[in-house]
Amino acid sequence: MRLRSVGARLTFWYAGILCVTLLILGGIAYILLAYTLAHDMDAALDGVAKVSAEQTRAEGRAFFPRDVDELFRHYFGFSPLNPSLELFDTRGRPGSTRPGSPAARLPLSPKALHDALRGIPTYETIDGAGPYPFRVLTMPVIKDGRVTDLVRVGISLENVFQTRRRFLWILGAVLPFGLLLASVGGWVLARRALKPVATMTQAARRISGEHLAERVQETGAGDELDRLAQTLNDMFGRLDDFLRQTRQFSADAAHELQTPLTIIKGEIEVALRSPRSPQEYQEVLASSLEEIDRISSLVAGLLLLARADRGVLRLDLKPLALPELLEEVGAQMRLLAENHGVSLDYGIVEPAAIQGDREHFRRLLLNLIDNAIKYTPAGGRVTLSLRCDGEFAHLSVSDTGMGLTEDEQKQIFHRFYRAAEARSQSGGGAGLGLSIAQSIAAVHGGRIEVESAPGQGSTFTVSLPAECNPAITASS
Ligand code: ADP
Repeated sequence: MRLRSVGARLTFWYAGILCVTLLILGGIAYILLAYTLAHDMDAALDGVAKVSAEQTRAEGRAFFPRDVDELFRHYFGFSPLNPSLELFDTRGRPGSTRPGSPAARLPLSPKALHDALRGIPTYETIDGAGPYPFRVLTMPVIKDGRVTDLVRVGISLENVFQTRRRFLWILGAVLPFGLLLASVGGWVLARRALKPVATMTQAARRISGEHLAERVQETGAGDELDRLAQTLNDMFGRLDDFLRQTRQFSADAAHELQTPLTIIKGEIEVALRSPRSPQEYQEVLASSLEEIDRISSLVAGLLLLARADRGVLRLDLKPLALPELLEEVGAQMRLLAENHGVSLDYGIVEPAAIQGDREHFRRLLLNLIDNAIKYTPAGGRVTLSLRCDGEFAHLSVSDTGMGLTEDEQKQIFHRFYRAAEARSQSGGGAGLGLSIAQSIAAVHGGRIEVESAPGQGSTFTVSLPAECNPAITASS
């Protein structure tokens, strides 16, 4: 049987453990009771036998205390049923017997006789004197160093058996009752302890993709359940953020793809409305091609990000000498910088090499330098530098451009994010360049950081695990 509720399982275990505990304790109590009864009985037999033997010795004839019951009560606490008191001679032949002694019919055992003749008392449990066994003590009567007689005192074990049986009855009655009480108590406790879990389960069930803003109630007790509620709430918070970002991302991607498509459609529709000259058609086709280029670069960027996210971006890792790569990309971007009226210079460039994918890395640098040129007004300056501190190469692209507020700095690496000023400027990208650069840096084990102040320019620094002063000099 499988118990599906934790409460039921707890109750079951609780009751089970209690049952075993009660059985063990009951068993120990029963053994102690039996031992105590046997011990007290032997002590009483010893007391009565000693009095009888002493009196017999003193009187020189069989002496039976008149009130044996009283004597037993004195030694035993209560008087036994049918106590036996007999006298034997040294050959084991029965002599006098206290009237009504049930054990009198039973012969003296050879061991008791043998021991008594050597002055040793013998305790025995014997059957045959009634429905219950008898406990007997055979004690020698010693006069002038000689055994003259043997006194045998016995009592029926009926009382002892009944007491033990009564104890077992009580135990048998108390055990189920105790178990029932413990089970009910355990069930109530388990339900009370697990109530917050039930509440949490209901709340968690209510929280779906549409209602991720809801939260599980925290008790504030700081206990395990409260920590569980906090953990669940943190998880829902992260899921909520993730879902919001995903929805925003899909909306942004659709929007960015729709704009060039709308332009292409509009231009083609206008062109088709009336006959055009071949040159006009050519212009429409050239403009459409430009928009298609925008779409394919956007799709290529999205694909790269998706592959990087899934960890399946294919990398052709080779040793890359960074100064040479910086030189090459700088030379490529110089014309663009000049067209913008921005100077492109080099700062400190230290030798460093990384294991990297050349094409991806070129793309990263192009994105950063392109941004620096784009967001720096004419007359400004873009500086490329490279430092190596032993373990990491730090490649910086600094500009004296529009800069970014602290809030913008936190968001610029988000996909499709563009700062307000960049948005108002014509010729801006879709807002994927930095996300792509960050992903490329990440798959190379590095990261990009930004330092910026509005109106004063920005510095983007790519830090990567690198070898400083490498043996290689060429980046190809
Ligand atoms: P975009 O294609 O818009 O340049 P990016 O992801 O490359 O997209 O950049 C995201 C945003 O970060 C830009 O829209 C711009 O607001 C800001 N940004 C990036 N580089 C710079 C820079 N060098 N100076 C100022 N703002 C920058």
